Amino acid sequence: MSKRDYYEVLGVSKSATKEELKKAYRKLAIQYHPDKNPDDKAAEDKFKEAAEAYEVLSNDEKRSRYDQFGHAGMGGATGGGGFGGFSDIEDIFSSFGDIFGGHFGGFGGFGGQRAQRVNKGSNLRVKVRLTLQEIAKGVEKKIKVKKYVACEVCSGTGAKNGTSTETCSTCNGRGQVTRVQRTILGQVQTSSVCPTCNGEGKIVKEKCTHCHGEGLTKADDVITINIPAGVEEGMQLSVSGKGNAARRGGVNGDLLVLIEEESHPELIRDGNNLLYNLFVSVPDAILGGTAEIPTLDGRVKVKIDAGTQSGKMLRLRGKGLPDVNRYGVGDLLAKINVWIPNNIKKDEKKLIEKLSESDSFTPNPTNEEKSFFQRMREYF
Ligand SMILES: [Zn+2]
Ligand SMILES: [Zn+2]
Repeated sequence: MSKRDYYEVLGVSKSATKEELKKAYRKLAIQYHPDKNPDDKAAEDKFKEAAEAYEVLSNDEKRSRYDQFGHAGMGGATGGGGFGGFSDIEDIFSSFGDIFGGHFGGFGGFGGQRAQRVNKGSNLRVKVRLTLQEIAKGVEKKIKVKKYVACEVCSGTGAKNGTSTETCSTCNGRGQVTRVQRTILGQVQTSSVCPTCNGEGKIVKEKCTHCHGEGLTKADDVITINIPAGVEEGMQLSVSGKGNAARRGGVNGDLLVLIEEESHPELIRDGNNLLYNLFVSVPDAILGGTAEIPTLDGRVKVKIDAGTQSGKMLRLRGKGLPDVNRYGVGDLLAKINVWIPNNIKKDEKKLIEKLSESDSFTPNPTNEEKSFFQRMREYF
């Protein structure tokens, strides 16, 4: 599905001011808020769409990138490394909790059951490209990321001097408030997230000027990831706590590492096995000889038996890849292909014509050989 234009999503002009953006977003967020539209997937999608549009347009740098390049300039927002988009409602609330002000209890308002909210930072997504050699041994990778970290001035509290937070008097630090409503069914008691402190149980008296009270700043970080042997394309590793820091303290998000596999020039991966097509000359196949097979740790010399049939498999035990769950190591399977020349000289042609008169060159596979070639199809 192609994305709608962010300005169109918020219903504002390209020259909208920050105030206009905020107003437009707030209106949509209230209209499509999941509390008002329970179990309404369309409303939830609209809600997320608006949040994403606002996230981009409210940030000067992102907005100018979007104005220049459109959605294509928003690499990070589609999970291509850096700051991932919003993977769930939680992420939206951790970024935009304060915009709801008194209308809703800020974030975490779903179901109203939750006790004091623990903020969780959003996940950070990165891709790592590995060679088969790296996959065979396992590898340590150092990855440079830009992420949210706790503000060093206020130690992530969001409060000036790092001291001036106090217990919320609305909820006495519980993070939720209880309301009694009269309805046609009688009195209904509902708990919801405290609107004063957004469920945090404490409030910031004076905001830290460095992070504007968010408790977060963006910073470069180098993360060391130990990638186990045997991983494969498309696998996702999760490194707990290495993602973005949460607003005003709380739990860090996770770092999600998507594995990409670089193709090997000669070997093909098949699960934990490696496959190789070995070409052998007609004389070598008939008389026997030697050949070389590439492996992940150098070339290996193998013997070609006299009378070797095309399609025969050579198995190099343990020369494949280790299983990621440590259930042993795969093999390298080399399939022999007898190389038939397609451009021979005159005198060679005479020689072959002479050979064709011999009964020895009439195909005559044994039953065992026939059934072997049937099984072969599993591999190639
Ligand atoms: Zn700060
Ligand atoms: Zn409170």
